[in-house]
Amino acid sequence: MSRAKDPICGMSVDTERAAAKGVYGAETVYFCSPHCKATYDARHPSAASSPPTHPH
Ligand SMILES: [Zn+2]
Repeated sequence: MSRAKDPICGMSVDTERAAAKGVYGAETVYFCSPHCKATYDARHPSAASSPPTHPH
């Protein structure tokens, strides 16, 4: 069991019980709620809507 910090509200989130999570490139971000994930996605539209690509 490990904990991660919700980047939107700053809450500590249990990674095994996170209400929402997203993979952004090589990084998995955990959220306390789907609402926080939606807020994060809105701030990172390219990361949320496309798979990680490294053309170079
Ligand atoms: Zn949150």
